[in-house]
Amino acid sequence: MNTGHKDILLHICCGPCSLHPIRELRREGLEPRGYFFNPNIQPFTEFKKRLAALRCIAVNEGLSLQTEESYPLEDWLKRTLQAENRCLECYRWRLSAAAARAAMEGYHFYSTTLLVSPYQQHDMIAQVATEEGERYDIEFIYRDWRPGWPAAKQEIRERGIYLQAYCGCILSERDRYYRRREAGR
Ligand code: SF4
Repeated sequence: MNTGHKDILLHICCGPCSLHPIRELRREGLEPRGYFFNPNIQPFTEFKKRLAALRCIAVNEGLSLQTEESYPLEDWLKRTLQAENRCLECYRWRLSAAAARAAMEGYHFYSTTLLVSPYQQHDMIAQVATEEGERYDIEFIYRDWRPGWPAAKQEIRERGIYLQAYCGCILSERDRYYRRREAGR
């Protein structure tokens, strides 16, 4: 679908995930502006690494980028650790911030690179992003970008850009390696 509007605020979870959506949106005639807001990335050195990888991709792709670097770790912990569903809260905070910013800056549309990852909870992301779009009166552009992930990952590896091994929070880091160890890998 070509929406007829050329600008879209694209919430970016990390550089590698941004590659395919940036290109696909442009193919559709939409010019994305990147918005990085991810206080879920832990620890802080990992946050800096992912941000550096994204900056590198933004330069190469000619992407305009806005980054939120305040790193409110305590707030993220407060919001998610007691939540019934940690990932739901984590998605909601980031997508809500993106929708609010898009509305404040006069965009008609927003989306998120979280939709490219086969490791994320795709349907939950789409649901939360739609709700936050409605809340701020901004249209969420849904796309299933997952088929583009294998080629993007391959390109990232070939270009020597940092590719993380876990979702973001320290709990996901533990689960990634703990499960591997349990599986005897
Ligand atoms: S696993 Fe990923 S989505 Fe879930 S809470 Fe951790 S960082 Fe957020």
